[in-house]
Amino acid sequence: MLRNDQLEKWDRENFFHPSTHLAEFARGNLPHRVVTGGSGCHIEDRDGNRLLDAFAGLYCVNVGYGRPEIAEAIAEQAKELAYYHAYVGHGTEASITLAQMVLDRAPDNMSKVYFGLSGSDANETNVKLIWYYNNILGRPEKKKIISRWRGYHGSGLMTGSLTGLDLFHKKFDLPLAQVIHTEAPYYFRRADQTQSEAQFVAHCVAELEALIEREGADTIAAFIGEPVLGTGGIVPPPAGYWPAIQDVLDKHDILLVADEVVTGFGRLGSMFGSDHYGMKPDLITIAKGLTSAYAPLSGSIVSDKMWKVLEQGTDENGPIGHGWTYSAHPIGAAAGVANLRLIDELNLVQNASEVGTYLNDTMQAALGDHPNVGEVRGEGMLCAVEFVADKGSRTFFDASQTIGAQIAGKLLEQDSVIARAMPQGDILGFAPPFCLTRDEADQVVGATLRAVTAVL
Ligand code: PLP
Repeated sequence: MLRNDQLEKWDRENFFHPSTHLAEFARGNLPHRVVTGGSGCHIEDRDGNRLLDAFAGLYCVNVGYGRPEIAEAIAEQAKELAYYHAYVGHGTEASITLAQMVLDRAPDNMSKVYFGLSGSDANETNVKLIWYYNNILGRPEKKKIISRWRGYHGSGLMTGSLTGLDLFHKKFDLPLAQVIHTEAPYYFRRADQTQSEAQFVAHCVAELEALIEREGADTIAAFIGEPVLGTGGIVPPPAGYWPAIQDVLDKHDILLVADEVVTGFGRLGSMFGSDHYGMKPDLITIAKGLTSAYAPLSGSIVSDKMWKVLEQGTDENGPIGHGWTYSAHPIGAAAGVANLRLIDELNLVQNASEVGTYLNDTMQAALGDHPNVGEVRGEGMLCAVEFVADKGSRTFFDASQTIGAQIAGKLLEQDSVIARAMPQGDILGFAPPFCLTRDEADQVVGATLRAVTAVL
């Protein structure tokens, strides 16, 4: 076995870590951690630490770590057939079964699943399908995609553009010209203090209408949004937001993409966020929870309405020119089948709803009145605490103070609990595995209170 100091040296010298301050990591000012194992809601590292992972990796290990059912399904598939492609009618029992299982769970009016590998490539697929669709319908000008500030849709060229966070644009020459952004439905930050939620929703709708008017509805193809804003701060929408947005989109013949990479397969306490909030999407993006990240797999769920046009397109133009070598990879598909079965068998969506509500309620009770807590918010197994310099006037901390990161650091140091400092604003995020128990929820809340008390 390699020595720890050797591994750390190689790590700092050779490994280009994603979403990391590269220079600080190379200088040794950011921690390096070698993760070796996991079980339930905990991970272990090489230094013998056992950490309660209240963010499920990157909100993806939904069934928890160390599930033998999924590991065995992966091993069986690898022994039988590690790979074959899915082009021109090829598949495996696992990929065909998984498509059926996904559609059984998806909202009505969904027709097919295109499998990819990551949330980013699934959203790239979505944009290509939307453009193809409008070209086949003979409206080549209808191409722009509306996304929201603070939305997160991936890190590719198009998906990084759809993402509405400066960090993902800065110095990358993004966003691309076909992407336009509108207001985030972020009541706490954006509403003035005299506005009701209903007035704020009307304001978001008016912003969207004005954008469509300015750009011209005949140039706008689609609107993409996460049912609950995730990486942008874990922000559930104000009541009535999605039906109101849906009305505007329907009026202007603009497609809706529900990016359910985080919310799909149970995180909100219902199978899909689209059903939870009354969205009627034409495309749904799925990834993380599809396999609980036991293997990389994503998907674009395509509506009947779009599917008919895609079929017509191939009659006119020949086979669709879009495919990945690893589309519907057998190992990912086997992981997906075992994962969705386990979610059903262990009633994990129900647990996400019940223990998620408990986590949110106890967090609210413990921290809601703290003078530096502006808001505790969440839905299902998603929870966020937003810090403010002054509660009364809702004065925010200066971004350079990185309060969220300081508190996340304290949580880890004092109580071995992993939470996530969200990339913008002073927000601490929680998105535990669905198997979290009430005792573990109590530990997370108690540790958070201690960390907040230590830092603020
Ligand atoms: N969409 C949403 C809502 C996400 O949260 C993410 C990742 O966090 C993505 C897309 C991109 O997924 P991936 O990192 O697998 O490319």
